[in-house]
Amino acid sequence: NKNLKSIDGEIFDIINLEKQRQHEHLELIASENYVSNAVLEALGSVLTNKYAEGYPGKRYYGGCYEVDKAEELARERIKKLFGAEHANVQPHSGANANLAAFFALASPGDTILGMNLSEGGHLTHGSKVNYSGKWFNSIFYGVNEKGFIDYDQVEKIALEFKPKIIVAGASAYPRAIDFKKFREIADKAGAYLVVDMAHIAGLIAAGLHQSPVPYADVITSTTHKTLRGPRGGLILCKSDFAEKIDKAIFPGTQGGPLMHVIAAKAVSFKEALSDEFAIYQKQVIKNAKALEKVLLKRGVKLVSGGTDNHLLLIDLSGIELTGKELETLLTSANITANKNTVPNEKRSPFVASGLRVGTPALTTRGLVEADFEEIGNIIADIIFSKEAAVAQAKDFMKTLQNFNVNYHASIVIDGN
Ligand code: PLP
Repeated sequence: NKNLKSIDGEIFDIINLEKQRQHEHLELIASENYVSNAVLEALGSVLTNKYAEGYPGKRYYGGCYEVDKAEELARERIKKLFGAEHANVQPHSGANANLAAFFALASPGDTILGMNLSEGGHLTHGSKVNYSGKWFNSIFYGVNEKGFIDYDQVEKIALEFKPKIIVAGASAYPRAIDFKKFREIADKAGAYLVVDMAHIAGLIAAGLHQSPVPYADVITSTTHKTLRGPRGGLILCKSDFAEKIDKAIFPGTQGGPLMHVIAAKAVSFKEALSDEFAIYQKQVIKNAKALEKVLLKRGVKLVSGGTDNHLLLIDLSGIELTGKELETLLTSANITANKNTVPNEKRSPFVASGLRVGTPALTTRGLVEADFEEIGNIIADIIFSKEAAVAQAKDFMKTLQNFNVNYHASIVIDGN
């Protein structure tokens, strides 16, 4: 019997313990979600054995005729989902998708303008510790004193520095992004517009956020956040950029594509084309609004005063409790979230004055507004009375643990 348990009991145990952790903890990390069993099945398939450098019909290896069909399905489905002209489904991750977009549109030394990491942007949008900040002259825009993107500042910087690329998109921004406005600024500055829609891709697919497709030259995304697919990346673009983008992925920045992941992406894109997916995305927003309402009622400060999307940024600046401490307290109550910097951060990023919470994962598990009201109250209790509230919270959390819905049940524990 050569199954995983007999060959490698250590890894077998780790997987099972992690499954249990995912089952027992309430997941509020805004960038995480639970895939379906169908996606997991494709991910764990023999397609991992296949080398397929190149693209369907133009491979550098023989025997690609079956995996070609999987990649075609993934490309066609994602184009249909977003109404895009061209899709590349090979990026191994969101970071790789951004690398390829920059590789296609700019050269080392060029200027790129992205959102400041400390105000909601992503590392790959020009941070000095990332290649994007080392190879490019990266400059930044941020949010205004109310916590909203400062489009006047974006325009001013863009016109002054004439960047090759403007990047719109964020990892910790609770508000809608005006891609049309970014396009107008990019046109005035003579810049390409790259939209990184990683966090909000699912909302866009369901028509709940303005689509970047009519406005961006190139769109990058992860597939595993609100889009609820396997861990990975993708790129959409207009036909004019298709060849450049495909070459930027292979041979530009990657080798052989991960065909098992591409097949799993195809499955998740099929799921995303369903009516249930749109209903799910609506619930993600309703749940975020429910959380917003209760937190504000309890006197918890939120960056920008609330949310338009799937995430909220709790603002602890001015109070003694730090983001790091709140993250630890919540973990002890079986709630998982992450500390985050807030605009005008006074603490180090390792301590931080914010906590980012998101609703996509728990919405997949079937939680609705009333549950999020309870969760909001628990978070507020913990913020204001700290340890005393943790034990109570933990009991309540246990009652919520058995939520698992329909086919999105890849974390159901056998026998539960
Ligand atoms: N872009 C944005 C906006 C993100 O939030 C993230 C991940 O958090 C990424 C890119 C990077 O994705 P990955 O972790 O798959 O490289």
